[in-house]
Amino acid sequence: MILHGQQEEQTMIRKLAVFMLIIGLLFTSACTNRNNGQNVPPDSAGGSSPAMENTEEIKPQVNLAEIQANEVGKVMILMYHVIGAQKEADWVQTSENFQRDLKSLYEQGYSLLGLNDFIENHISVPAGRSPVIITFDDGSAGQFSYLTGENKEQEINPASAVGMLLDFAKSHPEFGHTATFFINDRPFGAKQDWREKMKKLVDLGFEIGNHTLTHPRLDKISDAEVQKELAGLAKLVAENVPLYQVKSLALPFGISPANPELAAKGNYEGYDYTNGAVLKVGANPALSPNRKGFDPYRLPRVQASTKELEKWLKYFSNNPGERYISDGDPLTVAVPKEKEELVSDESLGAKTLILW
Ligand SMILES: [Zn+2]
Repeated sequence: MILHGQQEEQTMIRKLAVFMLIIGLLFTSACTNRNNGQNVPPDSAGGSSPAMENTEEIKPQVNLAEIQANEVGKVMILMYHVIGAQKEADWVQTSENFQRDLKSLYEQGYSLLGLNDFIENHISVPAGRSPVIITFDDGSAGQFSYLTGENKEQEINPASAVGMLLDFAKSHPEFGHTATFFINDRPFGAKQDWREKMKKLVDLGFEIGNHTLTHPRLDKISDAEVQKELAGLAKLVAENVPLYQVKSLALPFGISPANPELAAKGNYEGYDYTNGAVLKVGANPALSPNRKGFDPYRLPRVQASTKELEKWLKYFSNNPGERYISDGDPLTVAVPKEKEELVSDESLGAKTLILW
């Protein structure tokens, strides 16, 4: 009986060991999958980072003088509101004009950059091209809609901003398709699918930013109400898009809270929010994150009306030295010699500065 008891015990131990091994394997595999999930930016430079340790001279892949690389130049952050109107008006744009804007930007050497990549100074547009950031405020229906009709649900409306961006990038891959949607509660027409749409946007490679729950004037409400507005929207996104965090705030009406620090971080009922960037409403291109004086908490935007966009495209065409032109490598900062004094040592960090 004792022997039998020992055998039984040994069998139990063996079974337990196998069980632990299986649990261990499952756990390891779960962790690996997690790293492949949304918490890692899809285009992060992870693979290239060992080069940072290397102190040997880094030779640029392109002729910097030929492409006029200038990574202390200015960057347009475009601001759209309603898309798909019959006629252009203040804060309202037609689908045709939006398509025209994408074409003009592409033809004049711009490529889309995600706002999060901009604030993290990870600018990876192709060499010789200029980054441009597209933002949409207020989550209006024409920004992201599905077709209606039998078997059409979930088919993205090609006349919505999301549809047009995806379509244009198909034939112009070096332009890219990303944009940031600054939403309020129940965005995109408040139909039942707004929760699913948040997740879909992130899955498609777009970004979501904070535009508060109810779009109040933040200077007119209490500190507690400001935090309720910001934490509330951040929490809503996190609940609907697993592992995704909003990292930027577009101020409703461009107006700061009375206590401006609450735009960057705060807490409401145990929920913390942090914004690495705060965007204003007006009214000119932003400084490069490589440049002295860059302030991510006061980022200006260009209103993307026909008049304003044409004005700035013309400005950069007449003043090419003012424009950010990428060297194609997010780990190096290429700057004309005469602009060296503009480079921010703080932003440069471990990156290599290349003067030409
Ligand atoms: Zn707004």
